[in-house]
Amino acid sequence: MEEKFLNIRENVKFIQNKINEAAVKSGRSEKDVRFMAVTKTVDPVYINCAIDCGIDLIGENKVQEFLAKKDALKLEKVEKHLIGHLQSNKVRKIITEVDLIQSVDSVSLAREIERQAEKNNMTANILVEINVGGEESKTGLEKNLLRETIAEISEMKHIAVKGLMTIPPICENSGELRKFFNEMYNLFIDIRAENSDNVSMDILSMGMSGDYEEAILCGSNLVRVGSAIFGPRIYK
Ligand SMILES: *Cc1c(COP(=O)(O)O)cnc(C)c1O
Repeated sequence: MEEKFLNIRENVKFIQNKINEAAVKSGRSEKDVRFMAVTKTVDPVYINCAIDCGIDLIGENKVQEFLAKKDALKLEKVEKHLIGHLQSNKVRKIITEVDLIQSVDSVSLAREIERQAEKNNMTANILVEINVGGEESKTGLEKNLLRETIAEISEMKHIAVKGLMTIPPICENSGELRKFFNEMYNLFIDIRAENSDNVSMDILSMGMSGDYEEAILCGSNLVRVGSAIFGPRIYK
């Protein structure tokens, strides 16, 4: 078998073990933390290999890329999330194709999702993406706009807010990183306690290849792992 397939198999097994350990260490059970394979730039044969190794959740960044690859993927038992920045004019193309959009970072984007979900007679599941480090170069909602944004989105009848997502800044040390993860966890818990209509804080999506264990220890229940499964990305 091609070496790359063997590597993917080993990596999925290794990471799943690490996730399980971190889940237990954080006082939860293995089933409480979901393992997403991030598939941007990855060829369908390798994504299918990861699916054969037990991956049941994938994340793609770009609408066009996902639409181009999806027919080649074995998705019957796989949940699909959009995790990359979404432009309003692409909502129409993706809304019926994925199970959840993790990257909602404005009321105007939510409005377009609401409009398209209503047209399709469906409820769109979303996470609100937070720019937890307040970085100018990053997408994601400013922390101090979170409450009012969730309040506005919760009025939208065809949207169900399922939780929060973040990509923290690159940190010098794990203490600094934990500060951002803890901040997200606290937001998640506070909003959950409010019990608003159409808002169920079920998913806290944080942690990637370099920091998924740390994120789980801070309360993440969905980690998004790309290069640690598939190797370095090659952008064409
Ligand atoms: C690319 C990407 C990931 C995965 O990054 P890795 O470091 O390769 O694990 C996770 N989340 C988002 C939003 C991404 O764009």
